[in-house]
Amino acid sequence: MQRRGKEEKLSRLRQSLREILTELEKSLDVAFGRAPMIKGNVYELARKCGKPTCACTRGELHRSMVLTWSHEGKSKLFSIPSERLSEFQQKSEEYLKFRRARARVTEICKKILGVMDRIEMLRREEP
Ligand SMILES: [Zn+2]
Repeated sequence: MQRRGKEEKLSRLRQSLREILTELEKSLDVAFGRAPMIKGNVYELARKCGKPTCACTRGELHRSMVLTWSHEGKSKLFSIPSERLSEFQQKSEEYLKFRRARARVTEICKKILGVMDRIEMLRREEP
């Protein structure tokens, strides 16, 4: 390969490495945060209780807010006391944000290794 073409490629790779590092730093912001987290999703559960005379048999389902998460492959459920709903929503949102960032960090690390491999190939010489 032409020396010049090689230098241009290396220069582009260094530039994209810098961009990837900026993105990595941004993605790690959430890891430097201090907000507490709760694993799981908050949502409204609507269900029938099973009593044959209850209003829920006529469509007025029992509604409650729950937290669900999976633990060792099993789905778990926790009924959220109404006075703690916004606290749970915040902490669950923080958790989801953290997990999304973590997934992004995994992708970025793979990208970094890919760029490093290409740099290695371009800089390597035969003995
Ligand atoms: Zn009922």
